[in-house]
Amino acid sequence: MEKRMRELTDLLNQYRQEYYTNDAPSVSDSEYDRLYRELVELEEKYPELIADNSPTQQVGDKVLDGFEKYQHQYQLYSLQDAFSKEELLNFDRRVKNEFPNANYIAELKIDGLSISLHYEKGKLVAGATRGDGQIGENITENLKKIKDIPSTLSQPIDITIRGEAYLPRASFQKINQERQESGQVEFANPRNAAAGTLRQLDTGIVAKRNLATFLYQVASPVTWGSQSQVLEKASDLGFSVNPVRIEADSIETIWEFIETMQEKRDSLAYDIDGIVIKVNDLAMQDELGFTIKAPRWAIAYKFPAEEKEAEILSVDWTVGRTGVVTPTANLTPVQLAGTKVSRATLHNVDYINEKDIRLHDVVIVYKAGDIIPAVLRVVDSKRTHQKPMEIPRLCPSCQSELIHFEDEVALRCINPLCPNLRQRSLEHFASRNAMNIAGMGPSIVEKLFKAKLITDVSDIYRLTLEDLLTLEGIKEKSAQKLINAINNSKANTAEKLLFGLGIRHVGAKVSKQLLEVFGNLHQLIEADEESIAQIDGIGLVVAKSLHSYFERQGAKILLEELTEVGLNLNYLGKIAAKDAALFGTTVVLTGKLEKMTRNEAKEKLEALGAKVTGSVSKKTDLVVAGSDAGSKLTKAESLGIRVEDEDWLLNQ
Ligand code: AMP
Ligand code: ZN
Repeated sequence: MEKRMRELTDLLNQYRQEYYTNDAPSVSDSEYDRLYRELVELEEKYPELIADNSPTQQVGDKVLDGFEKYQHQYQLYSLQDAFSKEELLNFDRRVKNEFPNANYIAELKIDGLSISLHYEKGKLVAGATRGDGQIGENITENLKKIKDIPSTLSQPIDITIRGEAYLPRASFQKINQERQESGQVEFANPRNAAAGTLRQLDTGIVAKRNLATFLYQVASPVTWGSQSQVLEKASDLGFSVNPVRIEADSIETIWEFIETMQEKRDSLAYDIDGIVIKVNDLAMQDELGFTIKAPRWAIAYKFPAEEKEAEILSVDWTVGRTGVVTPTANLTPVQLAGTKVSRATLHNVDYINEKDIRLHDVVIVYKAGDIIPAVLRVVDSKRTHQKPMEIPRLCPSCQSELIHFEDEVALRCINPLCPNLRQRSLEHFASRNAMNIAGMGPSIVEKLFKAKLITDVSDIYRLTLEDLLTLEGIKEKSAQKLINAINNSKANTAEKLLFGLGIRHVGAKVSKQLLEVFGNLHQLIEADEESIAQIDGIGLVVAKSLHSYFERQGAKILLEELTEVGLNLNYLGKIAAKDAALFGTTVVLTGKLEKMTRNEAKEKLEALGAKVTGSVSKKTDLVVAGSDAGSKLTKAESLGIRVEDEDWLLNQ
């Protein structure tokens, strides 16, 4: 038992870390909940075995470096969970025991990120994440970019108000589409996208992403009598308040509301993961009080997971641009989170082996945050005599032998001439963060590739208007536009080209760093591994990968061809001049800046060649401190680190 409890604790902590801190969960919420409940049950039976680091003993997420900490004046709480009507009835009994005529209010449980806003004399002065409930992150500048958060209230009062910041589904889909086109990892779900956005150090990104809020709780003392009045007043003050809610005194009525909302859930413009039931009267709330973790006057009913059973009919293996071969299961069709699903990812070979997934198994399918459906696990009781899955040894596209690198979970086709891989590489080359050729999305690439008009990226630059017009469904006007876009891309700064080549380990950021240092592609190609590996944040893996790429005859020819058709190979951005004032130094910003925003200060420091980090350590070379600087400044002083002020930075 002890072993299982330890196992569960470790597993859940890992998932929490992935979920809260990295915004990239690897299991579904329901799988998490299932393990969590198993642990809770065991802990109830064996309380003496509860570990200090058990997830049941913790509230909320972690505070990241990079933002100032924010001490909440009023603690933020978690909510008790319920997964059945039974548990709601128990809650009701406990409440009615003290207040036989208690009345409830039921609200939607918005699946976003808790935020806390603080206003003084009606002006927004600070905003923060929940953090661990006592200390959050100060994200005021980011919150100011959310359009529905008022900067000035309709009355000049002091108030601390709480709620949820979320990303509407439509915005989520748009962001993910853009990320997909530019080859970035997609967000798993709107919640993770919202969390990732609010933790952006660049407020400009927040402004673009269309976050929205629903506020639902006033933390500072109020004179209003009930939660429903709080919501009305909040709305009058100018806050966005969710209009969907009911008041009722029986769990029966609330249960009907739950059932209705569960059905309507998919048609809402935002994600909800349950219904929160609160005692409406604030005086009763006060009397009922709190446990260590959560209020006694509220409970969150969580909707059951969107999971279905389906049979694996067959498995497709497809090759991506990096040569990775990915398995996708074809399933008996099931209805899942509002859509019909007949395909689900099996991730990779290691996943299949680890979960022992076999052809014709009945499996649990879920939607990993509303995007790609995935296979979660096998329903063991429904296994008959399936044999272990056959893992392909040959590439489904070119039939060359597949490689399973030891340090990888993926199977790879390493044949540079593999048709599937080529097509994907061409897509990547044209995508936004690479050469950004507008109008050359995956479907056009596919047509051009199938028509053998392009096989290599240099072919793109030999395309003529006539070539394009031979394709089905292309009109003269869009063909001309595409030709123009192709021509314009020749002048791109060279890191776009480097990234577009799709060299392993050479992403958009690394490409830029490399060209900042080397100035143009030729010099980069001629550089030896050591001088590449020495660049801050690059390392030997990248250096080796570049080297083996450019060593190949094919790569040399390609580069010659690209030069011939007139592509720019020079870096056109700002050069991180080795003689810039702060070249190669690590700088920490702290305290309040008066004349510039944090972001401006950061950009300025970076332009001076510095790397800006969040916390002071022995590696820090310089601290730029504004007014009211706190612990970071003290630490810098104790470590004898150079400290400068805002005016100094302005004069650089
Ligand atoms: P959990 O994170 O599962 O413990 O659930 C508690 C969280 O639900 C709170 O911290 C809030 O961020 C969130 N929540 C979403 N909607 C509401 C709501 N209407 N009332 C209270 N909490 C809500
Ligand atoms: Zn292949």
